[in-house]
Amino acid sequence: MKEKINFGNMTAYPGEKLQGYSSLGDTGIEFPMTLINGKREGKTVILSSGLHGGEYPSIEAAIQLAGELTPEDIKGQLVIFHPVNVAGFLDRVSYIYPGSGENLNRFYPGKPDGTVGERAAYIFTGEYQNKADFFIDIHGGDLHEYLPPYVYYPGIGDEEVIEKSRRAACVLNVSYMVKSSAVTGAYNSSAINGTPGLLIERGSRGLWTKEEVEAYKFDIKNLLRHLEMLDGKVIIPEKPAKLIKRAEYLEARHSGCWYPAVMLEEEVKKGRLLGVIKDFFGNILEEIHADFDGIVLFMTVSLAVREGDPIITYGV
Ligand SMILES: [Zn+2]
Repeated sequence: MKEKINFGNMTAYPGEKLQGYSSLGDTGIEFPMTLINGKREGKTVILSSGLHGGEYPSIEAAIQLAGELTPEDIKGQLVIFHPVNVAGFLDRVSYIYPGSGENLNRFYPGKPDGTVGERAAYIFTGEYQNKADFFIDIHGGDLHEYLPPYVYYPGIGDEEVIEKSRRAACVLNVSYMVKSSAVTGAYNSSAINGTPGLLIERGSRGLWTKEEVEAYKFDIKNLLRHLEMLDGKVIIPEKPAKLIKRAEYLEARHSGCWYPAVMLEEEVKKGRLLGVIKDFFGNILEEIHADFDGIVLFMTVSLAVREGDPIITYGV
């Protein structure tokens, strides 16, 4: 059994639960953290929320779980970040950490002497992720985004790590499951370094309801049972998530006004108009069409859009 565990500036002995602020080196990023060292032996799991500050159901679920779970409940060690990007949360901004203007989920595994985002990712990897047996990154649609509940599991890394991640994803009550080929996200990098993990999405558009928070907590507790961290039987979802094998992530090629032409989860045929970007005089800057038949999995719903922003994802 691990005598004690150390994360950031906290050291917890078996049977201890500590709460306070931790930091990511000299980046200026400080975040609320809960460290629970269980009375019984088990895995070390990180539950990270709020890398993006506007994804409320995930952040509130993490805050509640950090308050409720005790060393008596836990086998192993559970570390909860709730949320990482406090400045983004308080400023109500999408995607970025206001201190640097960077998306903190894009620079993994980071660099020791790079930008704030790169240094934060480097410390997060070495001082947190690499000490864990499983990494759970909870998100949702950001303030201007609309999406159904889904889970990403890593597609790049050791086959055993990918399979452990995929099996964990199967216990979640989500509509879609996507095998990701990205490499610079926190959970992608974690998998490449040998720690299985997931990114879960639930909620969007700056909203948070009691039902969404409860659904999130239910899924996380079920996942912790699957990881043998909590007692009790794993509840397999009645309706398995639909596996998305091919997804197209479309980005705006112009800044301006965005007019989607489809609904979320609409089935679209190849060639279907997905949306239009216009300038402030009503002139069309670009029309976006589907390249293949699929389901709309994600859409930006704000009128405002910037060049390079994700605007629509569809997949099959
Ligand atoms: Zn996010």
